[in-house]
Amino acid sequence: MITRKKTRQVQVGKVGVGGDAPVSIQSMTTTKTSDVDGTLAQIYALRGAGCDIVRCTCNEIAAAEGLAQIVPRSPLPIVADIHFQYKLALAAMEAGVSALRLNPGNIRKPEQIKIVAREAKDRGIPIRIGVNAGSLDPALYEKYGGATPEALVESATKELAYFQEVDFEDVKISVKASNVVLMVESYRLLSETVDYPLHLGVTEAGPLPNGLIKSVAGIGTLLNEGIGDTIRFSLTADPIEEAKAGRTLLEALGLRERSGLDLIACPSCGRTEIDVIDVAAKAQALLEDKNIPLQIAIMGCVVNGPGEAREADLGIAAGRGKGHLFVKGHVVRVVPEDEMVEALLAEAIAIMEEGIEARIAKAEVGAQEESQATREQLLEIQGLDANRSTEKINKIHDLVND
Ligand code: SF4
Repeated sequence: MITRKKTRQVQVGKVGVGGDAPVSIQSMTTTKTSDVDGTLAQIYALRGAGCDIVRCTCNEIAAAEGLAQIVPRSPLPIVADIHFQYKLALAAMEAGVSALRLNPGNIRKPEQIKIVAREAKDRGIPIRIGVNAGSLDPALYEKYGGATPEALVESATKELAYFQEVDFEDVKISVKASNVVLMVESYRLLSETVDYPLHLGVTEAGPLPNGLIKSVAGIGTLLNEGIGDTIRFSLTADPIEEAKAGRTLLEALGLRERSGLDLIACPSCGRTEIDVIDVAAKAQALLEDKNIPLQIAIMGCVVNGPGEAREADLGIAAGRGKGHLFVKGHVVRVVPEDEMVEALLAEAIAIMEEGIEARIAKAEVGAQEESQATREQLLEIQGLDANRSTEKINKIHDLVND
């Protein structure tokens, strides 16, 4: 179990960040903020994908006007992303946003920063100090000979000092970089330096799958060390993918309860009776939007499938043209192979309505025996060593000893 580092808590609308609040998931809309209906449609889709907080750019007056119409209708708290123009931060607060994100690399005048902080303090709005290695203040870049962890953390603490001068403490901080090692080391240093809540992210991580891998490497490493209070995957992809990835990572680390489907599948081997990749893709397509918070397994054979996936809530294992549906390792039904994905959905819905124990109690008479008979037939046909490992090992010995 991960022990999280204790941080202060700030409130972004109804969502607590830091302290005892669960690690929250953020994403950013890709629409023009002036496109009110388009932005709201994306925000609703993000909420459906598990997002907790959404950021919208506020880069022009029309965007601030858009925020004034989006905020009252949004199901999620909105953070306004501000670059260069401090007056747009004031405009976004007037529009009713729940938080701001400022980049110290591009709003550098202390007086302007303090004006924004004073206004945020009066309105009870938190601000994220969003340091980015790519837009670091040139003076710090020169001082440290590049974007180092020390330079990124100094940029954040310098901004923090301006906030503290006006007695503003309602702060979250991020020190993002596209270089994963730099990002991880910067957050570690920041976490030792301050107790403000930290927003984690690998910036400009890129398209799938590389962006996902880099983000998981950086964010996952830190979360596993107890660092981080809110996360964002910055992918060059539909923001829905960002929210889904964030939720999956938090659920995998035990930092959030499962809210949706966790589809697992065996890698397949010499015993497989089906195209596992194809069946898993069909199951994913059929199940993923149904709001089913179960772990469901797709297993290539009934010889080992129900046993290997006995921890799954529900699963299917193939064998001799049939699908063997199992609940917590107990085979409850046997269906024709071409009906097994639909049968999986029907059983998942039944589990949601009746519970796991009730479904095990309602197992079809003879299902367990039928699957056992198929298992024995397959073992007879394939032998104990369907992957021909022993034969291969013997050949290796022959080769080496020749
Ligand atoms: S033994 Fe069966 S369940 Fe296990 S990997 Fe091979 S096909 Fe999949």
